[in-house]
Amino acid sequence: MKTFLETGQNHLRRALELAQQSVGLASPNPNVGAVLVDGDDKLVGEGFHTYEGVKHAEVLAIEQAGENARGSTLYINLEPCSHQGRTGPCADAVIAAGITRVVACMADPNPAVSGRGFARLRQAGVQVASGLLEEEARPLGDGLQAMKHAPMCNICGTSMMRFWWGWGR
Ligand SMILES: [Zn+2]
Repeated sequence: MKTFLETGQNHLRRALELAQQSVGLASPNPNVGAVLVDGDDKLVGEGFHTYEGVKHAEVLAIEQAGENARGSTLYINLEPCSHQGRTGPCADAVIAAGITRVVACMADPNPAVSGRGFARLRQAGVQVASGLLEEEARPLGDGLQAMKHAPMCNICGTSMMRFWWGWGR
């Protein structure tokens, strides 16, 4: 019998794999992969963020899961967004779908919104866990693979390229 943490890590690895598939498609946006798993640990939906203007990974996973999203757990490499973009905040979509638990690798690296998606979810009674496999998720969440060697901001540790590109997501 595997522990929750072990199976959870496998699902998170799948989310990272999906995020990897979006590399080059989503840039300069963060690469996001999302996996929805029901109470029996069965995969009910998955998705990854391709490029701006289309739905975010978690929304695609929710649509794929349909009614099965209710009561499920979302595994995702990045915090669901809380801001009103072109597609509406994913945190709200997660809440509306009846997802009861969110396991994320990391918070949004954008300091202006970091933690807000989690806060919104918690307020709605969704359990949130973050920080698993964070080291592996960090380059994907940054969304700028090619900019790996750009100068780093020594205050926040973020690639300076981030600011030149803007945060648009
Ligand atoms: Zn989003």
